Amino acid sequence: MHEPVIACLDMEGVLTPEIWINVAEKTGIAELRLTTRDIPDYDVLMKKRLGILDQHKLTLADIQEVIGTLKPLDGAVEFVNWLRERCQVIVLSDTFYEFAAPLMRQFGYPALFCNRLEMDETGRIRNYHLRQRNQKRQAVVALKSLYFKTVAIGDAYNDTPMLLEADLGIFFRPPDKIITEFPQIPVTRNYGEVKAQLQKTGWLAP
Ligand SMILES: [Mg+2]
Repeated sequence: MHEPVIACLDMEGVLTPEIWINVAEKTGIAELRLTTRDIPDYDVLMKKRLGILDQHKLTLADIQEVIGTLKPLDGAVEFVNWLRERCQVIVLSDTFYEFAAPLMRQFGYPALFCNRLEMDETGRIRNYHLRQRNQKRQAVVALKSLYFKTVAIGDAYNDTPMLLEADLGIFFRPPDKIITEFPQIPVTRNYGEVKAQLQKTGWLAP
């Protein structure tokens, strides 16, 4: 008999749309579309984003209102429900608890490991705090040390350390470039394909 299975799911791009891109679209502030592809240093990127929010006098509540209008990807809620009937599920995201809340509500609040924002008394976002470095991979390392069989699903570069660390790592709709760089990671394009990959292991109930 194998260990119990725990699935670690990336949030943006796997279960929900990309938050910053949608905030950029819905607020009309194009500069907020910048990603780590434009500014590779995450700290520089985040400070720039927070500066832009401040310039436009946007508070956390304003951003949460925008995020509250976002819907999970088609089929994502059903997929998470399917998975939670078969194994433990943790969402491992590089977003912030304050941003994820309106989206996680739509999934019935699964366990979420992510980062925190710091607000001032007016509700403006002043700073951000990473819970730990390389948190996605570290979570998988820790779960393995607790004798769980680990499955991880992600779509981008920030997921690859966790996908490689897990007993089974799966790409979900990744960009083409990343597929050629990590040929050892199986690629899926929809939740049906993810389920098929998971069931091939024989670790989950049918
Ligand atoms: Mg992602």
